Amino acid sequence: MPSTTPTPATAGPVRPRPGVNAGIVDRARSGGRAASLTFDDGPNPADTLRLLDVLRRHRVAAVFCLWGEHVDAHPGVVRRIVADGHTLCNHGMRHDDMGAWPPERIAADLAETNEAIRRAVPHARVRYFRAPYGAWGRTPAVAAALGMQPLGWRLSVGDWEPPGTDELVRRLLDGITPGAVVLLHDGGGDRSQTVEAVDRVVPVLRAQRWRFTLPRKHA
Ligand SMILES: [Zn+2]
Repeated sequence: MPSTTPTPATAGPVRPRPGVNAGIVDRARSGGRAASLTFDDGPNPADTLRLLDVLRRHRVAAVFCLWGEHVDAHPGVVRRIVADGHTLCNHGMRHDDMGAWPPERIAADLAETNEAIRRAVPHARVRYFRAPYGAWGRTPAVAAALGMQPLGWRLSVGDWEPPGTDELVRRLLDGITPGAVVLLHDGGGDRSQTVEAVDRVVPVLRAQRWRFTLPRKHA
């Protein structure tokens, strides 16, 4: 009787942890005129620290999707993000396109990123994962198995170009829809226009009875 090939041990858990699932959240927690602000690719001291001042002044709680290498370079900025009460999101260690990666490789990268975050902030809770370039591939199930909810977006304004602060303000005010998760960037380049646009847009939307809440906990 031929022997069968033993099943290789799986590289990690495959089921979602309690409270999360493999769906991609792109809606705010509240209904009606509510939106969630999310900032990718930091920490980036030049702009993240000013952004934190802006968010504090306007009393907005946001999500920061952290690039692991940048966390290692600027752990003090991550501590400030957490101290200010914002929510953390894993954005991968090296901002790789994971769209074609097998689950084991994705799991290793996401774990490495969380280890970097916890070197900066021990016991930090990392609630979300966002795939670099939106190249989700097999990342949603892996993120959920590691206890992180995949976090997408409904509005992106091209702030990486960057198109000018006035144009960013216009795109945000024209593009906002009830319940939208909004994708912005505080790292990966000069993001001063993003910081200035947020500083201008939040009071305008507040005057129109918009609220800023966190994204939904799960899809
Ligand atoms: Zn990114």
